[in-house]
Amino acid sequence: KLGFVEIAEVEHDVEEWAQNQVQEIERLRDLERYRKEFVGNVSHELKTPIFNIQGYILTLLEGGLEDPKINKLYLTRSEKSIDRMVSIVEDLESITKLETGELKPQYSVFDIVKTTEEVFEMEHMLAKERKMALEFAKKQDKPIMVSADKKRIIEVLSNLVTNAIKYGKRKGNVKVGFYDFDEKIVVEVSDDGIGIDKKDLPRIFERFYRVDKSRSREQGGTGLGLSIVKHIIEAHNQTINVQSVLDEGTTFTFTLEKAK
Ligand code: ADP
Repeated sequence: KLGFVEIAEVEHDVEEWAQNQVQEIERLRDLERYRKEFVGNVSHELKTPIFNIQGYILTLLEGGLEDPKINKLYLTRSEKSIDRMVSIVEDLESITKLETGELKPQYSVFDIVKTTEEVFEMEHMLAKERKMALEFAKKQDKPIMVSADKKRIIEVLSNLVTNAIKYGKRKGNVKVGFYDFDEKIVVEVSDDGIGIDKKDLPRIFERFYRVDKSRSREQGGTGLGLSIVKHIIEAHNQTINVQSVLDEGTTFTFTLEKAK
C-alpha cells in the first residue's frame, strides 16, 4: 500500500518519464527532418554541375567536336564543374568527420602570425585576381604562440580569408588582427565588402546557407565553409562570432587558446 506522499512521488516519476519520451520523439523527428533536408541539399548541389557536364558533352557529341574553339570552351567548362563537385565532396567529408567527432583536434603549439602569413600566401592568387590586399591590421613583429590543431586552424583562416576576398569589393582590403586576452588570443578577419543583412546573420553558419545563391555559386561556394569553420572552432572549445554592416563590410572573430 502506498501513502499519499508515495503516490504523489510515483505520479511525478511517471509524468517525468512521459515528458522525456515526448522530448526524445521530438528529437528523433528533428533529426529525421534534418537528415532529409541535408540529403536533399546535397543532391541539389551536385545536380547542377552534373547536368552542366552532361550538356557540354552532348554539345560536343552533336557536332561541337569539329570546332576546336567549342572543344576547348566546353572541356574547360566541364573541368570547372568537376572542380566544383570535388570541393562539395571534400566539404561533405570534412563536415561528416567533424560531426561524428572523428576529427578530434591534434593540438600543437605554433605561431599564429606565421600561420596567417602561410594562408596569405595560399590565397594571394585569388586576391590578386580581384586586386585586393591581404594584410595584418597592425605590424606583427613578434610571434604569437597558440595551442590548437594547426591544420584545422589553417582551414578556418583560409575559409574566412577566401570569403573576405569573394564577398569583398574589388581593390578592397582584407585585414587580420590579433588581440591578447588573459588566456586567449582573439583573431579577427575583416573585409570592407558587401556585408551581410541583419536577417541573414544568424543563419550564415548553417550548412548550405547562402545569402545570395547566384553570387555564391558564381564564386564557387558550397555554403558549407562557415559551418565547417564553426565546427572546428567548437571542437577546440572556442567561440566564433560575426559582425556585419550591409555595404560596409564584415568581421569574423574567433578565439584560440594561448600557449602556456
Ligand atoms: P559559400 O561557400 O557560399 O561561401 P560559406 O558557408 O562560406 O559558403 O558562407 C555562407 C554565406 O555567408 C555565403 O554564401 C555568403 O552569402 C555569406 N558570407 C560569408 N562570408 C562573407 C563575407 N565576408 N562577406 C559577406 N558575406 C559573406
